[in-house]
Amino acid sequence: MVCDDQRPTWDEYFLMLAKLAATRSTCLAFPVGAVIVKNKQVVATGYNGSPSGSAHCTTQGYCYPGLSSCDASKTLPSRAVHAEANAIAQAAKHGISTDGASIYVTLEPCLSCLKLIISAGIKEVFYETVFNVGEKALVRDSFVDEGLVILKQVTVSETTAKRASDLFLLFSTSVMKA
Ligand SMILES: [Zn+2]
Ligand SMILES: [Zn+2]
Repeated sequence: MVCDDQRPTWDEYFLMLAKLAATRSTCLAFPVGAVIVKNKQVVATGYNGSPSGSAHCTTQGYCYPGLSSCDASKTLPSRAVHAEANAIAQAAKHGISTDGASIYVTLEPCLSCLKLIISAGIKEVFYETVFNVGEKALVRDSFVDEGLVILKQVTVSETTAKRASDLFLLFSTSVMKA
């Protein structure tokens, strides 16, 4: 029986959805997933990969010949559209406002995505893993200090993750209990 205290929190729920989106990532660098949420409703999702219609890094077996990460080259620009940018682009494509929304991401947004998030009117960023360090973190913090955006690290508890995998992902989900 599903008891109320076993249900994921809203933060866990949306972060788990972002984690599921990340399973669709097509870049070899690392998987990232994003979910844009407004009034507790999902309005768009995204994952990192080459632009729509372009060859997937995972299909080619490389990002650029000899490179297994889109961000590894010092000279070539990344082929990947980041998960957050893809989610914002998806909202734009379908004419959905992101103003006042929140975004859940499996990785803290890079500065390019953070700037895009701010300009798209997204006010809160919930991320699982830290990304920005050093000077990048200082620029991030300056945006926070200006009151443009709120960032908060969130996690899925082990209990919630185990319940999701053991009772929902690994087996048929909607099996009637005797
Ligand atoms: Zn790639
Ligand atoms: Zn980014």
